[in-house]
Amino acid sequence: MRTAIHADVFHTPAGTPYLRQPGAVLISRPQVDLSGLGPFLEAFTRDGVDFSSYLEDPVVLADADQLAKLAGQACYMSFGQHRSWNERAADYFRNILASGHGSVLEHANFTIVTYGGDRSYTHEAVRHRAGFAYSQESQRYVDGKVLRFVERIEFQADAELHGLFEKRIDRAAAEYDDLAERLRASYLASRPGFVDLPRTEQRKAVNQAARACLPNETEAVIVTTGNVRAWRNTIELRASPHADRPIRAIAFRQLLLLREAAPLLFADYRLDHENETAESEFRKV
Ligand SMILES: Cc1cc2nc3c(=O)[nH]c(=O)nc-3n(C[C@H](O)[C@H](O)[C@H](O)COP(=O)(O)OP(=O)(O)OC[C@H]3O[C@@H](n4cnc5c(N)ncnc54)[C@H](O)[C@@H]3O)c2cc1C
Repeated sequence: MRTAIHADVFHTPAGTPYLRQPGAVLISRPQVDLSGLGPFLEAFTRDGVDFSSYLEDPVVLADADQLAKLAGQACYMSFGQHRSWNERAADYFRNILASGHGSVLEHANFTIVTYGGDRSYTHEAVRHRAGFAYSQESQRYVDGKVLRFVERIEFQADAELHGLFEKRIDRAAAEYDDLAERLRASYLASRPGFVDLPRTEQRKAVNQAARACLPNETEAVIVTTGNVRAWRNTIELRASPHADRPIRAIAFRQLLLLREAAPLLFADYRLDHENETAESEFRKV
């Protein structure tokens, strides 16, 4: 199973690092063990009720798919012989999606580390509130040593725009370093006790002011954990043909990884690899 789509790092002639594509790494996914349900299921056995076969399904599903299926089947105590067996799980999930029974998708959570997205991306991504947790690169704690930039696709395709981009990020990196140096000198001269602060506090004070000169095209690494319902809503909006291309590229890669880990929960998307779009007939499940 593929869990990462990596992106190359480029450098301007002056050495400023930048990325032209986003990278995405799936670092956590559900792990399901139904075996403990045995005594619970068997205790229902009486005339006309036999749930014992539930744990003997010969078709093994991906953990996240199995988790959501179990959750859905628990709603109707649908554990008997006449339930949807795993062999028919694809139909089962189409029904779930078609009926908008999206709460069962909330049980499966995935964490993706995304890099090579810029600050505009993270600013828009964190607007997706329900079902997500975010941890985003801090421009207060992180200084110029790990500063990287992101080149939009329009600039990559045009020699003049590309040249301007390289000059601009060289200038931004140099200006950031220069500003940080001047701020540090100014604080040392004007703030009694600054030199005695812990080094992290000194760095934070300098970085939080120096970041004022950084452009939107500065890279912002983000760790995103979300449940499948939340991921689906975000992918619907951000991998749509109407979304901004770099953001679409990120959502598209995230979907590719999620689809590998939970094939049935994301099976309904029609993918356009060339334009990096994904659409489904099941909206806002
Ligand atoms: C193409 C595009 C352009 C955009 N342009 C702009 C713009 O110009 N300016 C701007 O400010 N934003 C803009 N946005 C952001 C947009 O308005 C949403 O904030 C963002 O897409 C998050 O969507 P959401 O609220 O559905 O997501 P989530 O926060 O993940 O919510 C998912 C769903 O849960 C429900 N929900 C979540 N929170 C609540 C709540 N508090 N109360 C009731 N129901 C809730 C809603 O049904 C919601 O759709 C844009 C988004 C897109 C995709």
